[in-house]
Amino acid sequence: MQLHCLGTAGYHPSESRHTSCYLLPQSGIVLDAGTGMFRLPERIETDSLDIVLSHAHLDHIAGLTFLLDILYQRPVDEVRVWGQADKLEAVRTHLTSELIFPVELPVRWCALEDQTTIELPDCSLSWRPQNHPGGSVAYRMDWSDGRSLVYATDSDGEHDADSLEWMSHADVLLHECNFQDHQKEWAIKTGHCYLGKVAEVSRAVKPKRLLLTHINPIEELVLDPNDRRFEMPVEIVSDGLVVDF
Ligand SMILES: [Zn+2]
Ligand SMILES: [Zn+2]
Repeated sequence: MQLHCLGTAGYHPSESRHTSCYLLPQSGIVLDAGTGMFRLPERIETDSLDIVLSHAHLDHIAGLTFLLDILYQRPVDEVRVWGQADKLEAVRTHLTSELIFPVELPVRWCALEDQTTIELPDCSLSWRPQNHPGGSVAYRMDWSDGRSLVYATDSDGEHDADSLEWMSHADVLLHECNFQDHQKEWAIKTGHCYLGKVAEVSRAVKPKRLLLTHINPIEELVLDPNDRRFEMPVEIVSDGLVVDF
């Protein structure tokens, strides 16, 4: 299984990072639709796409407006966009307003609320709500061969016992870390994570591998290789990185 990192920044793009977008090409799953979406066409391997939105903040949805060009370059039979109903409604009302992007997007809108686990073409997708201004959701993908990936972005890292259990023992935990430890106050104020908080969460849920995403575009996160708070391999992902798991 491969994870292609198409956009790894939080908030806005930088010279080296676009905003949140990941592709699992074998499954046709796109995690968030940030500005990194423009990198999608040559990487698509499936006849349909499932774009799953963590929430509707601009750095996670701007790339939906790139879909016309993406599908012109690489047509697929169907694009489904998954998210909480209020987030999908906000995208449809505001992002595709005549005054902002006056074209109906060629997608099927699929609200999550109807089901806590969704059977996608080659895996089960489940979700849990997270604390973040306006609310966001984390996703977990479980494949039939036992592999699993959890994507948790735009979250303050506060999780109840059920959520920690749900996140536990994934092959890959792709977790946001927008702030460094000395910016803890900003993390709390904006509903994001700082390094110490991600260390706490990862120790509780024990993934085989921890990938840090939603990187602050003006003050890049730095990892100390001797940081003993992490009990598993941890790395900061970058645009263009392909992760095998
Ligand atoms: Zn964000
Ligand atoms: Zn957000």
